[in-house]
Amino acid sequence: MRVPLHVLNEWRPAQTRKTGYLPAEGVRPHLKETDYSTRIRPGTLIAFSDRRAYEVIEVKERPLDLWPEHFLKEWQRYTEWWVEQVVTGRDMGTQPEKATWEHRPVVIAIRPADQPTAKPQHYAVRADRSFYVLPEHYSVCRLCNEIPPCSHETTEARVQHEMSKTEALMSIPAGACLSCGEAITSRMKAVRFPGPNLWRPDLGENSAVFHARQDCADSVRSYRRQWEQKGHEELQPELPGGASDDA
Ligand SMILES: [Zn+2]
Ligand SMILES: [Zn+2]
Repeated sequence: MRVPLHVLNEWRPAQTRKTGYLPAEGVRPHLKETDYSTRIRPGTLIAFSDRRAYEVIEVKERPLDLWPEHFLKEWQRYTEWWVEQVVTGRDMGTQPEKATWEHRPVVIAIRPADQPTAKPQHYAVRADRSFYVLPEHYSVCRLCNEIPPCSHETTEARVQHEMSKTEALMSIPAGACLSCGEAITSRMKAVRFPGPNLWRPDLGENSAVFHARQDCADSVRSYRRQWEQKGHEELQPELPGGASDDA
């Protein structure tokens, strides 16, 4: 079974492909509202990586004298870098201003979308940060109330992914490539690892072999890593495909 990548990689809600941008000066000034992008305004529903939905109550610029510490440090680092670039002769255009800097803090007030009477929480976020925007009738998992894919779903998908990998590996015949499972003919270049077979111990000593081609290179790399951890560095892994050909 093929597992959709978004379940395994960084979380994003499955039910939306809409990205929201803050209503702050200089942030996507020419934004067109489409099915894929929108401006965030009071009432917009957004999802965070905690897999919960939040309603935006308000978005406000943070006054310059109230910037949180790490934004100030970031600004200082940035201006130092900018000046350095100018000194080395790079054309940097006009110097950015603190009040309109794209990484300046903007305060966003939100509350859980399913708790309309909860007290809004305020967060300072970068002005150019984008958000996942949920539809009005968004769905949640009936078991855990998270926005799908929920944590359980991700875990299940991961387990399934591992299992199908193991299954594929276990069905590879002896002498075939441990990456793609296809035969290695005597004409093909191959990489053979001496010692016990770390992925298929049942195939015996010196049986770990891979095609020496781009398609199988990722597996060679990960096998090599494990193989080196077992302390086999002193052995040479490279052997010609049909070792007996040259004799
Ligand atoms: Zn769930
Ligand atoms: Zn292969």
